[in-house]
Amino acid sequence: MSICDNMPKIPLPRYLREHGDEIQHIFDNAGKNADTWHYDASVWQKEFKDNSEVSDDLSEITKKYPDRITRSHVQSYARKIRPGSYQGIRRLFLACMIWGYGPDPNGQANTKLALSAPRLKAVLEKSVERIKNTQIKKAYEGFELAGCGPAFFTKFFYFVGHEYQIKPLPLILDSHVANFLRFLGSGEGWGLSLFAKTGLKGYIKRYSKGYMQYICSMDNWAKELGCYAADNIEYFMYKKDKELEKALGEVDGEGNPEVPIIFHRDGAYCLKCGAFLTSPEPGVGFTLDKIKGIVWRHGCYDC
Ligand SMILES: [Zn+2]
Repeated sequence: MSICDNMPKIPLPRYLREHGDEIQHIFDNAGKNADTWHYDASVWQKEFKDNSEVSDDLSEITKKYPDRITRSHVQSYARKIRPGSYQGIRRLFLACMIWGYGPDPNGQANTKLALSAPRLKAVLEKSVERIKNTQIKKAYEGFELAGCGPAFFTKFFYFVGHEYQIKPLPLILDSHVANFLRFLGSGEGWGLSLFAKTGLKGYIKRYSKGYMQYICSMDNWAKELGCYAADNIEYFMYKKDKELEKALGEVDGEGNPEVPIIFHRDGAYCLKCGAFLTSPEPGVGFTLDKIKGIVWRHGCYDC
């Protein structure tokens, strides 16, 4: 009996099947520095200097990882929640936020808001308890902390679930993953709304039903691809979207854009094959999400 038994089965997308080998070995190939984020410890310390509890947690983290933090560093904090102390859980939450925000200047203020909520202890402890018991939908619906929306609390869920080897694994669902899912769906006849709802600038809205469908489908797809757990696919999708975002802003040695598509008022054109791809909406330019979608649909820029 699994919580996924009554969920609609979504077939493994072709794109993922074609990249099965890469997905299967994605963490081995990335090595111990997989998913590294640089951050400025002094900015975080300054923000929390008046809160001695958080300040202590923070010093513990910044002493060990002074300028960058990786996925596996955060996993080492997840191991420390096993004895059940609240301090361990709070530290894991903080480590997740530092990792999740990296150099993003919104990180400190949002994390401060979450960490100063009177219900913090109750919310974090209850979430851990529920995830350990595979009550993921309940954990999702019950996680209410100012400054910490689904894109971030699913990071906390992931590390807790990973530590306790929960199946289906609660996975990170942030705007990068959502962007990639949108692209995947465009070739498969389903829309992103199956898994996630997004608002302005790709902001992830609360949607527990979609989240459950997401973790169940990813669990199925991971099995089909022969992966031990579904975080391989989550990391793959995240990485693809992030790489594309970077490539969009870069030029090669000859000054040509890495992504050979130009976007202007009249439309988007491929510089390599000359194809006209699409027009912008009247009166609106191309947003980053739209640009990414066009690039993905155009054969991942290798026409
Ligand atoms: Zn082309």
